[in-house]
Amino acid sequence: MRFTFRRGIHPADNKNIAKDVPLMDFPTPQTVSIPLSQHIGAPAAAVVAVGDEVKVGTMIGKAASFVSANVFSSVSGKVTDIVTCRTAIGAKATHIVIENDGAYEEDFLEPLLSPDAAEIKSRVAEAGIVGMGGATFPTHVKLSPKTPVDVLIINAAECEPYITCDYRLSLEKTSEIFKGVEYMMTALGVENAYIGIEENKPDAIAKLSALATDRIRVIPLVTKYPQGAEKQLIYAITGRVVPEGALPSDVGAVVDNVHTAFAIYEAVELGKPSFMRAMTVSGKACTRPGNYWVRNGVGYKDIAAYCGETDDAKKVISGGPMMGFAQTDLAPSTGKGTSSLLFLTEEEVSSGDKPISACINCASCASHCPMRLMPMFIERAVEAEDAALAKKYHALSCLECGCCAYVCPARRPLVTAMRRAKKLIKEKGV
Ligand code: SF4
Ligand code: SF4
Repeated sequence: MRFTFRRGIHPADNKNIAKDVPLMDFPTPQTVSIPLSQHIGAPAAAVVAVGDEVKVGTMIGKAASFVSANVFSSVSGKVTDIVTCRTAIGAKATHIVIENDGAYEEDFLEPLLSPDAAEIKSRVAEAGIVGMGGATFPTHVKLSPKTPVDVLIINAAECEPYITCDYRLSLEKTSEIFKGVEYMMTALGVENAYIGIEENKPDAIAKLSALATDRIRVIPLVTKYPQGAEKQLIYAITGRVVPEGALPSDVGAVVDNVHTAFAIYEAVELGKPSFMRAMTVSGKACTRPGNYWVRNGVGYKDIAAYCGETDDAKKVISGGPMMGFAQTDLAPSTGKGTSSLLFLTEEEVSSGDKPISACINCASCASHCPMRLMPMFIERAVEAEDAALAKKYHALSCLECGCCAYVCPARRPLVTAMRRAKKLIKEKGV
């Protein structure tokens, strides 16, 4: 049996650019600028002032509500400024600017020995851990579902083209990942966990499978985008369908990223809060592609300088090419959800200069949509400002995965239309 979901696309994965480069430390610059909003939910509230001395792991932002996350210094040194500036997703956020003294003196939490469920959940919250696949939902919230769950799914699919940091992590930190999964299972009180990983990573599948047990199984998944989307992953592995408007926990499942499992291991056994992550830098317009351990707050300009952004760079994307965010400049800095930074040449940017034309009713967008939507009708509803019609066509179920736009021969900006549809439905309250 092959595990997958219905529809989807097969973009060129371009993972060969960085996949064989082992994780290495990115040289941290003299100054880091750490956003206090690196997660879904309320931004953390600053708990340091200009002039304060901090260490690696000192809390600099405190979670402002249950759906929020603590933020920590990634270097030792002095707070030199607190500013508001743009993040990689285009939002404004408070940033703590820290002058790095280069000593990397640590201020970690106490490691936990044989923690119970409550202690693990509390540690995950304390350590500021969020979904590290890019979704950045606070993990302590996910580990506290309102309805009972019976299965944990670890997302190691890494279906976005170019990105290889989860692949390297699966290869290089295999036993630590399994320990993290065990802590998550204890926190959730479940006896079954599955690690889902695409078939295009046979060596990582072999390493993970060597540690698999009856409780934690490794599931090779068909290589297809968006195989790592939460609902598609749940369906591929369990056959369960998450209804519109429902949560994975409503069908008894919790899904979290493989890097999150690793971060939980570090927080529990090493007392290490979340202040750095594995990240891929790739694309044909950089001369030093690879996978790096990058501390939070490192400027994109520092990454571009070290990794050798070339004059051929036509587009810079934070995250993957399908769901990431194109950058207008290199002002943002890294955070807990920064899985990659891509420097792409004109040849790699699929849109080229081909103009947008009228919809030809080919239905290709609908036949590839993993949520079985009809994007062309939703786009028309948006153009007519008809929120009720957009809702009738289930615009709220859209994942914003980009499959529709990818296959559209008329190059219709369908993802933009889906986002507008959701906004319209919210504004009009239909
Ligand atoms: S309509 Fe939404 S879910 Fe469907 S393919 Fe387009 S972006 Fe993906
Ligand atoms: S793929 Fe493009 S051209 Fe074809 S129906 Fe959808 S929006 Fe229209």
